[in-house]
Amino acid sequence: MIVSLSPDAPTSTRLSLLAFATAVGLESRTLPDGRGGHIVGVDGALPPAALDLPGVAAIQTIHKPYMLASREHRALSVVRVGEVQIGAGPPILMAGPCVVEGRESLIEAARAVKSAGADMLRGGAYKPRTSPYAFQGLGEEGLAHLAAARDATGLPVVTEVLDPDQVDLVASYADMLQVGSRNMANFPLLRRVGGTDRPVLLKRGFSATVEEWLMSAEYILASGNPNVVLCERGIRSFETTTRFTLDLNAVALAKELTHLPVIVDPSHGTGRRSLVTRMALAGLAAGADGLIVEVHPTPDRARCDASQTITPAELAAIHRRGQALHVALAAVEGDSAGVVELGAALALSA
Ligand code: PEP
Ligand code: MN
Repeated sequence: MIVSLSPDAPTSTRLSLLAFATAVGLESRTLPDGRGGHIVGVDGALPPAALDLPGVAAIQTIHKPYMLASREHRALSVVRVGEVQIGAGPPILMAGPCVVEGRESLIEAARAVKSAGADMLRGGAYKPRTSPYAFQGLGEEGLAHLAAARDATGLPVVTEVLDPDQVDLVASYADMLQVGSRNMANFPLLRRVGGTDRPVLLKRGFSATVEEWLMSAEYILASGNPNVVLCERGIRSFETTTRFTLDLNAVALAKELTHLPVIVDPSHGTGRRSLVTRMALAGLAAGADGLIVEVHPTPDRARCDASQTITPAELAAIHRRGQALHVALAAVEGDSAGVVELGAALALSA
């Protein structure tokens, strides 16, 4: 059951609902609804008498299993990472190397992606490699390099956390925690990142359904962390010419089903640098709130995922075209500010 509370509902209403649910053995959670009120999700039904409280605005007994992640009965979420707002309108761009290779090279990459228009720096310090013999990342030294690159550029950093026991360490350096595709269903990890105050980037498992992905987001939300961004990064299909198949249905569908922002990873989604720009723009056209892209000053020398890594100049082209696409769509949707921005963007890109 989902109980919607109006903005003027007293705190005592929320606490009573949670306490009643506990007393009758039901799990319950609460989250802000993005409109000034709250929703309370109860994994079961409370009796009408328990719901007769001030500020109870609506009660839904039939709803999606991902009560807190569902878009039903609430406004779209904006997730803030430092000053960056994901889901607020303009597409945001996270970019950087697959793996942190060293301090100076990361700072060079961070400066390059910033000049190309990136809002955040990506880079793995702990890498989930298919082979145990492949470079596994620099570990804590890599986290320190990410912090140094943030200091040098002002870009917030997103990096992957592989293990529940690493969460506090990674959170002490990173602005956003990435849960990778291979860990989307690592429930102890989801609970641990859900217990932090760091926003979480949750990549879709490459064999996971959209509903499984949203249920994984639900774990994080139910653990108390409302700041989750979903990332479509390609799924396994019969096609082996590309590394994965970027599932843009899932982007449009997730935007329909959840209030959480959704971004697209065209690098892992294709595995081929020649396809990255077009699929990045296709992701934005499908409704994504942003992109995460692997970029290296000299892609052929990247220590990991070189074949899908693009140059800062290519990233700048994605940024320019992505902005133009955004303002063009806003303009045709009748947003007059968008028309003015469109003129400016077209003048800039000319
Ligand atoms: C990554 O972004 O570095 C990564 C390993 O991605 P994924 O988990 O989607 O494979
Ligand atoms: Mn990679």
